[in-house]
Amino acid sequence: MSQKTLVRGGHVLTAGPAGALGDAAVLVSGAVIEAVGPYAELKAAHPDARELGGPHDLVLPGFVNTHGHFSEGLITGIAEQYTLWEWIHALINPVRPHLTYKSAYVGTLLAGVQMLRSGITTANDMFVCDPLPQPVTPGVVAALDELNLRGVVSFGAGDLGLPGGIAPRLDEHAALREAAAASRLSTFRVGIGAVGGQTEELFAASVELAVGGGFGVHIHLQEIREEVTAAFQRFGRSPVAHCAREGPFGAPTLAAHCVWVDRNDRELMALHRVGVAHNPVANMILASGAAPVMEMRALGIDVGIGVDGAASNDSQDFLQALKSAAMLARVTHLQATAMTAFEAFEMATIGGARALRMDDRIGSLEVGKAADIVVLDGSSPTLANVHDPYQAVVWVAGSREVKDVLVDGRPSVVDGEVVTVDVAEVVARSRPLARDLVRKAGLPHLSELAR
Ligand SMILES: [Zn+2]
Repeated sequence: MSQKTLVRGGHVLTAGPAGALGDAAVLVSGAVIEAVGPYAELKAAHPDARELGGPHDLVLPGFVNTHGHFSEGLITGIAEQYTLWEWIHALINPVRPHLTYKSAYVGTLLAGVQMLRSGITTANDMFVCDPLPQPVTPGVVAALDELNLRGVVSFGAGDLGLPGGIAPRLDEHAALREAAAASRLSTFRVGIGAVGGQTEELFAASVELAVGGGFGVHIHLQEIREEVTAAFQRFGRSPVAHCAREGPFGAPTLAAHCVWVDRNDRELMALHRVGVAHNPVANMILASGAAPVMEMRALGIDVGIGVDGAASNDSQDFLQALKSAAMLARVTHLQATAMTAFEAFEMATIGGARALRMDDRIGSLEVGKAADIVVLDGSSPTLANVHDPYQAVVWVAGSREVKDVLVDGRPSVVDGEVVTVDVAEVVARSRPLARDLVRKAGLPHLSELAR
């Protein structure tokens, strides 16, 4: 198709070397950005191009959500009273044996709609479930393709204290890898739920799969203090030091949380170029703490922002996570300069892409990159007067201002609504599945739906 699209903004925030451009546009040809520059020049050169956006709108790269769990798509707003390990014991462990391909598919659609509405164009996911005779996680890939949402998908394998051994876990990795290879928008990573959740046998097999297969790793690292203490008791070293020694860091690694990383851990992470997913909302809800984001960035560690799971955040709204990241840094350091709006915006876009080692393809509006683009509605009262476009995005905008979203050059959101799936139908389909899930998991004490 030779039809081109000109995406116009009063402010075009490139997140690339060009910085912020006034009255500019992004020329999209097929799935790719062909040009970025002054609107008048691009309009004169391409008078027949379809137009999106307008002179008051803000145009930005799609947000890169560096961490989440589509496995929690059907269990939102539940079990708020626990810290992480209690929460895993009370909610995640009872649910995980009952997740099926169908609940993975519908849960991903439900969470993915919310992500797209908040401007996310890439979702890095770790699906936490128990393996079944039929693979579960390919349901995630099917839903992402249907949504037109770029995915980095992993299976959050764990086997310590769980039945079945490592073979069915490796089979689930293989099924997800094959589904991603056949998909238009998803790429595969090897998921390691956490160092403390795996036998040494599964851990070694995971490392071999990642390093030998040329895949990245996605892992939770040092989210809470207890995790670090337990690793010292079991291995005599921190989870970060264990990964540096036992091999995962030999593959490109994206680590979620890193709240309880000390100076030694941070130096190891910088040395091995470990990317970090910072999840401020989930870290606050679960009372895990505040990650040392600026200390990690000062060492050159690539830090992106994640919404985290639909059960731990519980919202899937990226703009909430973005604002929370900047607020949490400020309240931690008691300094208004602890994290600027520009720094938060950078983490949300190119920073996240770097953390995933995908910055050659996504994360900024630059010629040759994928056309993953968000238009914020400048005609809304919220964005009527933009004194500083970065502050407007981070402090002011909400998901209501997300007007259009392109992923790979194709519209996923038009005039504020997801157009790739029937949203009402997704909602209706999710209801019996969510009820069934909490009933099978035996959670009447936590959910009205299970009673
Ligand atoms: Zn997580």
